[in-house]
Amino acid sequence: MKNQDLVDYLRSCGVCEICQLRYLKARGSEYKDIRETLRRLDVKVNENEENVGDTVSTEDQPTKKARVSTCSTCLGLFSEDFQRDLLQGILASDFAKYDCQKIVLAISLPMILQLRQLAMWFALQKRFGASVDGINPPDVPIKEAVKLILHPIICDKLDKEYDANGLMINIDVTHSLEAGEVEKLVSLNREAFPAKAAHQKRIEISRGLLEKQYQPAKVKAETFEKYYQIPCASVEEPLKLVSIDLQGPLVCVAGRYRKLSRELSHTPWILNGQRLMEDSIEEIIIRNVGPHFAEKLEKINFMSSGREDVDVRCLGKGRPFVLEIPNAIRSSLTTEQAYEMEQAVDKSGKVSILNLQVVAREELTHIKTGEEQKKKFYRALCALKEPVTVDILQKLQIPESFDIQQKTPIRVLHRRPLHTRPRTIYSVKAKVHRGNPQALIIDIVTQAGTYIKELVHGEFGRTTPSFASIIGQPIDIQALDVVGIDLDWPPKVNNAPSVE
Ligand SMILES: [Zn+2]
Repeated sequence: MKNQDLVDYLRSCGVCEICQLRYLKARGSEYKDIRETLRRLDVKVNENEENVGDTVSTEDQPTKKARVSTCSTCLGLFSEDFQRDLLQGILASDFAKYDCQKIVLAISLPMILQLRQLAMWFALQKRFGASVDGINPPDVPIKEAVKLILHPIICDKLDKEYDANGLMINIDVTHSLEAGEVEKLVSLNREAFPAKAAHQKRIEISRGLLEKQYQPAKVKAETFEKYYQIPCASVEEPLKLVSIDLQGPLVCVAGRYRKLSRELSHTPWILNGQRLMEDSIEEIIIRNVGPHFAEKLEKINFMSSGREDVDVRCLGKGRPFVLEIPNAIRSSLTTEQAYEMEQAVDKSGKVSILNLQVVAREELTHIKTGEEQKKKFYRALCALKEPVTVDILQKLQIPESFDIQQKTPIRVLHRRPLHTRPRTIYSVKAKVHRGNPQALIIDIVTQAGTYIKELVHGEFGRTTPSFASIIGQPIDIQALDVVGIDLDWPPKVNNAPSVE
């Protein structure tokens, strides 16, 4: 089959130039200059002839066509009129509210387009015989063509870039004939797939079903033709835009926090409907970082690499955290803005944050996985009933790792199942407190998930061995700090203004 013959036939069926290119299997940038591409494919372009359907406009060819009929296969989806309506619709929506450089179009297309594609497929088989495959469609599918044709045009007009994770512009499109066509499809489906129809009471007619089941290899042309015309009839009315709906991107903001207070919970602490603590790390960070990115702070999800108890501080380089912000109105953060947020959080006096930055969604795996394998670094202030002896001090210098068996502590049994877990303690290093001979400062490196308080006092033998069992006398924990977390993420950034 020659390209010229194919195009001549398509033209006689009322197919627009862009769709002619789809049937010539044009790719990527070949849609930019349609006539040039047609010429290159050895197709005669009749300059004087009124095009069937619209084409993408070029500067020197203004749109003043007297009468333009609707393309029989795309129903005007690729026409200039539709592009204009689409652009106007987007600009009339909440679009201006979103400060996002990246966008993605999600067009929900009526099924009539798929039916027409199939009708044309049958028509080409009739006309050109075996050179037209029965399994692989003869055209570049409309969905793909939307990406190749509409995306670049709309991005260009709005001065945005395409990104699958960008601001999603949900576009609902319909056609006046859609309902009637789908109704016929129900009958056709019963006839074309009687076995399947017998099994199911009601068959869901969907785009997916059309894509999977409806091709000349599976449906006979004669059956199809009982319900639909081959080739498809031309129509007057083009597709209509029903609605445009925007959904901001999911933005992830990472950083590290230090917890400076021994009276602060990780997340809002509410018991039987009553707040037990007036603030939390999560709330302090969200109320200072969130408003820049989103209108609704309730939807923001706070995650961190582990957590500490209310009375435990987290010092050193701090603990990695991420805010997952859905439907964001803004996706960027300058270092100045980040620094302001860091300063604002610091003002709470309870939490301080650093390394604040926007990160890619894929990087969240750092926080979500591998928690068990990570090492944790603690400093504990512990007290004995009598002054520390050299013997005790020596027993609490353990440079090599050892394993403990730890039953779920009684204090967390209300939210964790009762288990005995093995945990590795990598090292223990104790020294006497300078101001108090009965007190010890102990640096401990453990596997994540170890309960440190119980590791110290043993909780009536529920953790073995424990520091108490190792030294053979009671030892209590007075205060605990997390001094390091074995996760080198997010990358260090310095948001503070440089000093000249
Ligand atoms: Zn078309």
